[in-house]
Amino acid sequence: MSKAAAFQALTVETLPTRLVGVEALASRIGGDSASWDVREVGDGNLNLVFIVKGDKGSAVVKQALPYVRLVGESWPLPLKRSFFEYHALTRQEARAGAGTVPAIYHFDEAQALIVMEYLTPHVILRRALIEGRQLPKIARDLGLFMARTLFRGSDLSMKARARKEDLALFADNAELCDITESLVFTDPYYEATLNRHTSPQLDGLVAELRADRDLKVEAQKLKHMFAANAETLVHGDLHSGSIMVTDSETRIIDPEFAFYGPMAFDVGMLLANFWMAYFSQSGHEEDGDREAMRGYLLGVVVETWSVFRTEFSHLWRNERTGMLYDRRLFEDRGDPLGAEQALDRVLHDIWIDMLGFAGVEIHRRILGLAHNADFETIAEEDLRARCETKALKFGRHLAVNRHRLLSLDEINTLAIRIEKGNVA
Ligand code: ADP
Ligand code: MG
Repeated sequence: MSKAAAFQALTVETLPTRLVGVEALASRIGGDSASWDVREVGDGNLNLVFIVKGDKGSAVVKQALPYVRLVGESWPLPLKRSFFEYHALTRQEARAGAGTVPAIYHFDEAQALIVMEYLTPHVILRRALIEGRQLPKIARDLGLFMARTLFRGSDLSMKARARKEDLALFADNAELCDITESLVFTDPYYEATLNRHTSPQLDGLVAELRADRDLKVEAQKLKHMFAANAETLVHGDLHSGSIMVTDSETRIIDPEFAFYGPMAFDVGMLLANFWMAYFSQSGHEEDGDREAMRGYLLGVVVETWSVFRTEFSHLWRNERTGMLYDRRLFEDRGDPLGAEQALDRVLHDIWIDMLGFAGVEIHRRILGLAHNADFETIAEEDLRARCETKALKFGRHLAVNRHRLLSLDEINTLAIRIEKGNVA
């Protein structure tokens, strides 16, 4: 396939003849394309994903479409999201290490196509959490991934010019940012046409939230930060559906929403998805068998944040090579405590903002367009609504009171009280 060829969507039938010439693919899975076994995965919302197996191995081919796959041609979306996904993957691998994201074998910009490692027997983390599986490594792996990518993509680490150039490159991912800006920060808080919620059960609470001035002001402050605080290259869609796991491995996929934004955004979105998994457990419970899972999920929140803080602090002390918090002002003149004081301030800001992003992420998954399977797979509507109600109240508390919340102990204790029905 030549670079100049006009874009054409792949199909299961055309993929072997169209990609047989891609050496990086053929050499890895075997060159006899007639014998390739091609399967479309089909659970992506935006793009085409194929698994291709040959006699020597396997690979995944992910191709963007000029529209949103889930909705169809009525919702156009630029092919260049594939370009941003490719560039984000290469940066994440460089910053967080090989084995944190799928290995990339080939990228074709004109065809908006990425050939990458087929992760197997990995499953999507969200599915595993719905089934009640306790993954032993996710907190540590995800805490490290976030600290390393967010620190090393910022002016704490990069040379100022290199970072500004990269910022300019990702600034063109405006259409995907626009999706987040609308779907996360604005649509949930008014009667946007694409919204839906469990109705009529949630109608009263939804009306209350949309009339909640403090909540709407916080949501807009968070949107302001999302749009204006271009401090690091964020994944941009770091939820449990963008993570594939085994008991011993954690891989982060699908960074097509990547752009330069606030560090706290990835952290808040991820923790929000653990809290939603927590509040959804009773919808999947049989005979009280999810109590240990609930404890596990709150523990994952605590450990993820703790690993993130520890690794971020380690990088701060050992890799602060960017223009910010210049060592010449602190360590080099015998004032390491000054650098520690600055670190505390930076981590405190991430903490407060992370809680806000977590709050609105929870709301948009229950009130907006893109719901998550944790709640959606609870078939009984009254039961689902009870789970969602608890999560909505918890999310409101995080978003509105974030400046006053001091610890995850305090927050998880509130989650337990809400879950047990001890909070109005
Ligand atoms: P979209 O951006 O369209 O949502 P994703 O990147 O999330 O697409 O991929 C959709 C699905 O394809 C994932 O949920 C996962 O099941 C599967 N998938 C994607 N990339 C890989 C991979 N590298 N290895 C194995 N499965 C993958
Ligand atoms: Mg995606």
